Amino acid sequence: MQLSERLKKLPKYLFAEIDEMKKKKMMEGVDVIDFGVGDPDMPTPKHIVDAMKKAVEKPENHRYPTYEGLLEFREAVAEFYMRRKGVKLDPEREVIALIGSKEGIAHLPLAFVNDGDYTIVPDPAYPVYFASTILADGIPYRVPLKKENDFLPNFEEIPSEIAKKARIMFLNYPNNPTSAVAEKEFIKEAIDFCMDNGIILAHDFAYGEITFDGYRAKSFLEVENAFEVCVEFNSLSKTFNMTGWRIGFAVGNSEILKGLLKVKTNVDSGVFQAVQEAGITALRSEDKVIEDICSVYRERRDLLVEGLKEIGLEVEKPKATFYVWCQVPDGYTSVEFTKKLLNDAGILVTPGVGFGEHGEGFVRFALTRDVETIAKAVDRLKNVNL
Ligand SMILES: *Cc1c(COP(=O)(O)O)cnc(C)c1O
Repeated sequence: MQLSERLKKLPKYLFAEIDEMKKKKMMEGVDVIDFGVGDPDMPTPKHIVDAMKKAVEKPENHRYPTYEGLLEFREAVAEFYMRRKGVKLDPEREVIALIGSKEGIAHLPLAFVNDGDYTIVPDPAYPVYFASTILADGIPYRVPLKKENDFLPNFEEIPSEIAKKARIMFLNYPNNPTSAVAEKEFIKEAIDFCMDNGIILAHDFAYGEITFDGYRAKSFLEVENAFEVCVEFNSLSKTFNMTGWRIGFAVGNSEILKGLLKVKTNVDSGVFQAVQEAGITALRSEDKVIEDICSVYRERRDLLVEGLKEIGLEVEKPKATFYVWCQVPDGYTSVEFTKKLLNDAGILVTPGVGFGEHGEGFVRFALTRDVETIAKAVDRLKNVNL
């Protein structure tokens, strides 16, 4: 069967090779501690599951939902943004429901990118920005996220002929995989760059609530002029341990949302209404629900980062996300160091190069294992001879 040219252009997943290595180790009888998975291990809070049980009993929820989402869901999103970020949203024009934020991110280029148009994507990054551009026959232009620049792109390095032909710029802070965060000054620069060049600023805010030590992540919509050019993708997945439920939302510029919704009305039929009702309960949870989830990750973070430092690795405590982005010691590539951790300690991580060539030199640990397991991993790290 002949695949389309655009499918052939998608990069191969490095992760298949890593999976093979893991399987082989497990066959040898090693109980591998897997820090590779960016998927919360904790269950969805009980009050949300209970709301779902009630919602699923209602026959009116068994029919096709509306494309843009229940008005009450969109109102709950607006309340959430006001309460958590101080951002005012019009639920009728500035909010749409998504089948997870990945769905919205993947569909956005179909609405705004023509054959041969550029998008600007960070490197390293969540792979969907690159892939969705290719699926829309666009050309992703990669901008490096470098440690010396706090993993923020330098807009001055983008050639002006690329900037002029770019339709979308994707950014993601707090960032997967580097766990970097963005402050107001940078966000303002990004908005100005996009306004000057007529580019849509697509901000992936999936980790906007996973923060520590009193740090609060800024929504791009808090910054002046953001509503002129910005769409922000957000999700219940990480905030409320709901990755399997498939519910997220997009907020911001109403014209951008209209374009995205036009694609969606032709492709999907919205989010199961029972899931939206449970989502309303989640968004209206008391703040303590989010605080409790963050404090679990904080304890895990502290334990792991201390352990990594103890064996001499260069690593910082992240302010946000559930990832630890750890520099690879001299003399190793990220894949070689991943193999070493697996062979010496039975610990599996994700090599940075899997997120793009500028991810080379780092590995990513996901804090999705419980403290007992992390303590065991830290103990095993002592077997790693650097
Ligand atoms: C987990 C994650 C998402 C969330 O995806 P959903 O489709 O909402 O589950 C989005 N962006 C990044 C960078 C992520 O890591």
